[in-house]
Amino acid sequence: MIRLNDITSQILSYHPKANIDLVEKAYVYSAKAHQGQIRLSGEPYLSHPLEVAYILTKMKMDVTCIAAGFLHDTLEDTEAEADEIKHLFGEETANLVEGVTKISRMQFTSRQQRQAENVRKMILAMSSDIRVILVKLADRLHNMRTLGFQTPEKQRLIAAETEDIYAPLAGRMGIQWIKSSLEDLCLYYLEPKIYEDIKNEIAQTRDKREEFIKNVIELVSKKLEEFKIQATIKGRDKHFYSIYKKMLDQDLTVNQVYDVLAFRVIVSGIKECYEVLGHIHSMWKPVQGRFKDYVSVPKANMYQSLHTTVIGPMGQRMEMQIRTWDMDKVAEDGIAAHWKYKEGTTENKTDEKQFMWLRQLLEWQQNLKDPAEFLETVRMDLFPDEVYVFTPRGDVKAFPRGATPVDFAYSIHSEVGEKCMGARINRRMVPLRYQLRNGQTVEIITSPKQHPSKDWLEFVKTPRAKTKIRQWIRNQERGESIALGKNLLEKALERDRLKLTNIMKNEQILSIAKEFSFHSVEDLIAQIGFGKISPRQVIGRLKPKLGIKDERPPGLVGKMVGRFKRRKGDLGIKVKGVSDMLIRFANCCHPLPGEPVIGFITRGRGVTVHQRNCSHILNADPERLVEVSWQASKEDIYLAKIRVTSVERKGVLSDISAVLTQKDANIIEAQVKTTVDRKGIALFTIEVEDYNQLQNIMGAIKRVKNVLIVERL
Ligand code: MN
Repeated sequence: MIRLNDITSQILSYHPKANIDLVEKAYVYSAKAHQGQIRLSGEPYLSHPLEVAYILTKMKMDVTCIAAGFLHDTLEDTEAEADEIKHLFGEETANLVEGVTKISRMQFTSRQQRQAENVRKMILAMSSDIRVILVKLADRLHNMRTLGFQTPEKQRLIAAETEDIYAPLAGRMGIQWIKSSLEDLCLYYLEPKIYEDIKNEIAQTRDKREEFIKNVIELVSKKLEEFKIQATIKGRDKHFYSIYKKMLDQDLTVNQVYDVLAFRVIVSGIKECYEVLGHIHSMWKPVQGRFKDYVSVPKANMYQSLHTTVIGPMGQRMEMQIRTWDMDKVAEDGIAAHWKYKEGTTENKTDEKQFMWLRQLLEWQQNLKDPAEFLETVRMDLFPDEVYVFTPRGDVKAFPRGATPVDFAYSIHSEVGEKCMGARINRRMVPLRYQLRNGQTVEIITSPKQHPSKDWLEFVKTPRAKTKIRQWIRNQERGESIALGKNLLEKALERDRLKLTNIMKNEQILSIAKEFSFHSVEDLIAQIGFGKISPRQVIGRLKPKLGIKDERPPGLVGKMVGRFKRRKGDLGIKVKGVSDMLIRFANCCHPLPGEPVIGFITRGRGVTVHQRNCSHILNADPERLVEVSWQASKEDIYLAKIRVTSVERKGVLSDISAVLTQKDANIIEAQVKTTVDRKGIALFTIEVEDYNQLQNIMGAIKRVKNVLIVERL
């Protein structure tokens, strides 16, 4: 078991002035908190925080981070409180511990590739301080090393999560040694058979290969000495997981993977790297297509090396990596190689390059102008543009920052989006506008009565939600137009005693739609609803196609509308020398067809038609009078008012009504009153076709018994 002393002496070896007190205090606190707890291995629980802290010293972390390593399980597994840790160890340490606890509490279950990437990003996004991830990686490494004490199911579950999430995260951080350690442990638990095969294969040939390695190192050393190049040469087996990957990628068995040997030549400068490459290629034949120059074109995580594969002395493939000491450090320790202490940092010029590397590594979007911003930036948001949340099933979804439950709902299904009325987040109801935050579990609440609204467009962030909401609104408006269009068309058809349902079944309506250049009848009706086309325009074209003659139906409403609302030639009046004139009939004298008439040009309201002897006209400006004439058409119906004076007698009114019915005149209104001198006075408003009909009717009424006077009003 690691002892505290091992840890403190490690720290002092790379940072002599470190504040060891903090580490010791954390150790004591952790020992107390975990007192009596036992690991599955049977060891006291304290062994775990000790190992984690020790792994962190291997990454050359600062004392804050190592203290956090000691404390990382206290919030989760003991009585310890965050406030207490903050009080005893400071805010920075407390934040690290809380960050690790937050990640540890999450359950990542999905094994899909895309999911894994989202989970990795979520962990990065939730770690406001990079050191949170480093502590978590150290924690996971020790847990993987002691995984044998877990049940087989747990072993597979944890190994899978490590393979999908933590090993790639270590790679992303550039910490090669943690990445390969994790990967080999994963292989051991996930593919035990293959792991055994690789191990046996390598063990069987171990002696031979060790001799071979010695041989190659000697040959290269000799060559480089000739040219006075100082170099350190290392030979090693590749790690098991990378052999396994090679088997998978190239569909090989273990003994078909030849280049299990990798050599590393480490020199002092870049110039020497290329010189060594030349010498190695002069000694052994390089394999085509295997040379990679990561020195002039570094990888995204700033990894630098020359890679080549050559056919070695025994006809065996050997991978060669050539790099400088600096490059080697970056390759092994990654982000840890760049770790700087707040206290007593001496900046040098290569730092700037290192910050660049860090920026790329973490996909930073903010510019780092000043190297002094380094520590600040370490603690800032790693993915400022994205937010990662859980579905109730435990999948992780990525959204633009500021996304709302509506965005989330639409990402599940557009129907869920349309019916979304709110969300439950960590068991609490939140409104639609609520902005999602990292690590939350979002459960959408829907209602069949809910539907999207234009307001939603103001707060949704995903293009998908925006598009779907707009689409819905457009469809909705169209739906309304269609309903209105149907209504208008139906009313207009009534005048011709036509039924909309019958018309809709008729093929002719489609041909009319096409005449108006629409693709469908629905489009035509929507346009009627929008008011772009009038129902009469449609009916006007429809009737000839259906073989219907233009007859005025007797319905009262139709007549009234016809009398007062229609314009121009429709009224059966022609204005001399003018077409397309707005016409209405004067309310003072109600002229009838056939009656002598004259037009009066109003200011802005077209021509008013009066009886020629109307008193208003006699006093009017002669310049504004215009000749008008009746047209032959008899289709229109006009209103006329007449007054009938009679001797008061029972039955006189019914006699007059009988005459009117007999003469085919509709009575619109009738008023009857009796005068003091016992005369009956009846006022009728009747519908007539023209002046002649009215004359005829009036003559007939006059002949009714006891009728004294019939006059037009
Ligand atoms: Mn732990």
